[in-house]
Amino acid sequence: MDKIIKILLVEDEAKMRELIRIAFRKENFETYEAVDGKQALNIFKNFHFDVIILDIMLPEIDGWTVCREIRKNSDVPIILLTARGEEFDKLFGFELGADDYIVKPFSPRELVARVKVLMRRTENKSKDLSSQFDIGDININTLSREVKVEGSLIILTNKEYELLLFLTTNQNIVFTREQLLLKVWGYEQYGDPRTVDTHVKRIREKLGNKSNYIITIWGVGYKLEVPK
Ligand code: CA
Repeated sequence: MDKIIKILLVEDEAKMRELIRIAFRKENFETYEAVDGKQALNIFKNFHFDVIILDIMLPEIDGWTVCREIRKNSDVPIILLTARGEEFDKLFGFELGADDYIVKPFSPRELVARVKVLMRRTENKSKDLSSQFDIGDININTLSREVKVEGSLIILTNKEYELLLFLTTNQNIVFTREQLLLKVWGYEQYGDPRTVDTHVKRIREKLGNKSNYIITIWGVGYKLEVPK
């Protein structure tokens, strides 16, 4: 692997962090550290990582919750750390979107090996799918679910992302609110069309000076078009 891999290590035990840090330093990895769940989510919001190593028993916000929160916006690979004897439900972990887990005590080299496997899997996935596309000044990566506007990352909620993705993959087509509810939320009868309006409003705010990509068709709905 030639590119530098950025890891966010979330672990409250200093000794464990040190062991992991040393193991990864020998390879082409950069580790960033968080000592509790709250700090982890704050750091995650502001930086891009290639993989997250996440302890489950954490102060402030536990690892389960951190995992769930990260999955709202991102497909970044997540490895859970769990202590032997700790109640650990691996199915629950996978349901929350974790990719792998490792039981303490483990050899740091094994953790490095697991991370490499995950990175390879992600790399292969990105070769299989066309995961990146540009729509004018907006770039969407469907693997990491990251959206960049003029190169800067914007943070969207799950539904905001799906709505934007749907509109961008169906450019120049006008959709009614009801159609968008059906396509993005999966319901039409009981959904409130104003939900669509609120989401569009929030996406536009996040798109900043590219908010004009989403066009309101009065009395009908919305479409996405790259301004000429
Ligand atoms: Ca812990």
